[in-house]
Amino acid sequence: MAIVGGGATGVELSAELRNTAQVLSAYGLHKLDPRHDVGIVLIEAGPRILPALQERVSTATAELLTKLGVKLMTSETVAEVAPGIIRTASGKTVRADLTVWAAGIRAPAILSQLDGLPVNRLGQLNVRRTLQTEIDDNVFALGDCAACPWPGNEKNVPPRAQAAHQQASFLLKALAARLDNRPLPEFTYRDFGSLVSLGHFSAVGNLMGGVIGGNMLIEGLFARFMYMSLYRLHIAALHGYARMVLDTFAYWLRRTTLPRVKLH
Ligand SMILES: Cc1cc2nc3c(=O)[nH]c(=O)nc-3n(C[C@H](O)[C@H](O)[C@H](O)COP(=O)(O)OP(=O)(O)OC[C@H]3O[C@@H](n4cnc5c(N)ncnc54)[C@H](O)[C@@H]3O)c2cc1C
Repeated sequence: MAIVGGGATGVELSAELRNTAQVLSAYGLHKLDPRHDVGIVLIEAGPRILPALQERVSTATAELLTKLGVKLMTSETVAEVAPGIIRTASGKTVRADLTVWAAGIRAPAILSQLDGLPVNRLGQLNVRRTLQTEIDDNVFALGDCAACPWPGNEKNVPPRAQAAHQQASFLLKALAARLDNRPLPEFTYRDFGSLVSLGHFSAVGNLMGGVIGGNMLIEGLFARFMYMSLYRLHIAALHGYARMVLDTFAYWLRRTTLPRVKLH
């Protein structure tokens, strides 16, 4: 099978599918040889996978994926997807029974029809650092649907959960200031780094950023632990710490009967 797009989604999916192929024997498919019978090719137009993350994260992840038996094709732009075959702009072909398109994000079309509010090429609403839209002070946008400047960076604030979370907390204060006719603060994104899951058993290549005053590459069990901790923190943010602890306890009790593949 082929996955088009070597961003976080394509990378996580390829590792997860490799893991899934390996656990299929637990479901009775003993004749399947995961490495040889289930080929996974990850095709990326840029020169490296995970282009949005630091190069060393990308390199470490590429090594781990290769070890897992995922074939990487970088600097190859998919030009055509036909039944059973993919053709790249450079003339290469890849045979694939199944192709998953995981290349890029686009905001919903409705955003470009909101009474002339300007959008960028991805369809996100252009906002200022106050999160007000470019031409209307009374319309705010946050999260994935907003293209917010990131000072000191050529890019905008990335479309990530941590950015949406920070903007939500910011907007709570900004809206209170607006209602009191006080000047609006400006949003500053703090990059806490990125974690990329590479399957249940394998290591996780990742990065911790701005908070520690630099960047640190973390891999292996520690990275896996961080990934799981972040998920638990997410549950705590949604349901409170008491429910998170109960949920964690319930998970440990049920884990032997849970599916051995990631379903979410
Ligand atoms: C596969 C995948 C993996 C990801 N992994 C990570 C990760 O590991 N770390 C990370 O930081 N970020 C990750 N992200 C990105 C993260 O999910 C988003 O940045 C985050 O969810 C953005 O939050 P949001 O509230 O802006 O948008 P969303 O979470 O997308 O919420 C928008 C909501 O609005 C609803 N909606 C849309 N249109 C309408 C409409 N017209 N009317 C009413 N409701 C509507 C949608 O159904 C949705 O529920 C991942 C994203 C994907 C797709």
